[in-house]
This record gives sequence, C-alpha cells and structure tokens, in this order.
Amino acid sequence: MDDDEAAAHRPSPIAEQEEEEPFSDAPSPVRAVLNRPWPSPVLIPSPSGKVRTLVATSDTIGPPITPEELDALEDKEGDDMCTLHYKATGRAGATIRNYVHQHGSLYLDEDGGFMIDHSPLMEEIRCKNVPVEEMEERVFNFEVTKEQTYLSELALASYNKRRKVKFELCKMLLSRFFWEDRGHFVHLNFIGKRKDKKKLFFAEIEDCGKRDGEMYVVRCCVSLESACEGGYYNMLVPTPPRSRKGLDFSKCYACTQSLKHPPSDGSGYLGGHDHQKKTYLFERVFN
Ligand SMILES: [Zn+2]
Repeated sequence: MDDDEAAAHRPSPIAEQEEEEPFSDAPSPVRAVLNRPWPSPVLIPSPSGKVRTLVATSDTIGPPITPEELDALEDKEGDDMCTLHYKATGRAGATIRNYVHQHGSLYLDEDGGFMIDHSPLMEEIRCKNVPVEEMEERVFNFEVTKEQTYLSELALASYNKRRKVKFELCKMLLSRFFWEDRGHFVHLNFIGKRKDKKKLFFAEIEDCGKRDGEMYVVRCCVSLESACEGGYYNMLVPTPPRSRKGLDFSKCYACTQSLKHPPSDGSGYLGGHDHQKKTYLFERVFN
C-alpha cells in the first residue's frame, strides 16, 4: 500500500470527531444517559461446560440512573421521531442499569438472553393474604371511569343477590379488559363495604355483545378474604405442567401482578388462562 492509498484508508479528523460525539442530536439530558460507558462483558465458564456472560455488576456499571434522569427520558409532546427513539433506547438502558443496582449483577445465557432474577415479581404474584388497606394504599390517584363503576356495581349486585347481603361499592381499584379465543372479558378489583366492614373483591364479567340479550354477564364475583394471587402477564413462564391445549386453569395470564384473583382450581373464572398470551388484545388498560 503506497502513501496515497494509506491516507485514503485513514479516517479523517472530522470522522474521528463525529465518533467522539455519538447521539449529538439527542437532547443533552438524554445524551448524558446514552453516553454513559458500559463495562466490558466477562465470559464465565461453568463446570457443566456452558458459558454465561457477566454483563455488569453494581461496582462496574457506575451510579444508578436518578429519578431526574428518568424524567428526562419520558416522552413529551412535540418530541420528533428521532428524539422518541433516543428516549426509548435510553429508557431500556436505564432499566438494565438500575436492575443491576437492585440485584447486584446481570448475566446473559448462552443464547444471549438476559438471566433475570424474578423473585420480587414472584413475591408480588404469590398467593397470599393482601389486606384491603394495603390495596387501597397501592392503588390511588387515578380517574375512575363510568364504565368501571358500572361494571363493579353490576358484579356487586350479583354477589349481594346470591349471598342475600348488601355490600355497596366503596372504591374501584383496578380493571383489565381483554379478548381471547374463549371470549371478551373484564377482570376487576374493587372494595365493597357493608356497615363498617370493607372487603376486597375480584370479579369477572364477560361482554357477550348485544345480540344475545344482556351485554354484560357476571361470570364470577368473590371476596378475597383469605388468600389471592396476582396475574402472570409480566412473568415469562415456560409451559406450565398443568397446561392443557395451551390453557392453564390455575392462573390468570391476562392481568398484571397488581390485579388480585382468587386461588383458582379452574372453576373460579373463565378468562385469562392462555399462558401463551398470544390471543390477548387489550382495548383499555387501567393497571
Ligand atoms: Zn385476570
């Protein structure tokens, strides 16, 4: 290679300068997050012959992303496509960085998949007693729609009729509307009150359409007095052992961990049992 040829292959000073300033067109607080350095990944062989990759530890990844930095990554009105893309990339990186700080380290498996510690999510989902006061504290400051109130009252009326009691709707908490092969459902959590006693309720309502008589049919309405279980929507699960034709009647895969369900033996509620979650279409998400 002669001198001229070597010069042609050498990067120009301008190109070098551009490389030093990646994301230069991103807003500066977003750029600051995007340009934070990542530690070098470390390959770790195991005695079984498999290799995993240590992505980072809390000591090597730098300080956590602060709430102010996270605020700067939120989409704002007027953001152009490019800024929205940078912000989404920044949020993904911020989630990983703060996960490392929360859990101490993060690994990739042999196929490049993140090896995530699901224990906090599992604790939230786990079948346990959740006091009414705890749910009230967790779910607040949101606007209840007329439809949510109507559906909760409809479910409670069915409960009252069946049990010959008179609970009144005290507070609407959470709802999830979803469609799957088996039908069009809403799962709800709300608080009912009778005299001075409050109870946490779960209800399932099926939207049967207008053609065949009543539009909404209450399929299930129970109080969650002893134990209840969160939904598995955010949990990646391998095929459950109790699965039949992709359906696992012991859990709800349509709702998130916040929405509490009765411990199910398959007779409690009809919807949400498709663990592959492929058929779910959410129209309106309130939790
Ligand atoms: Zn559900």
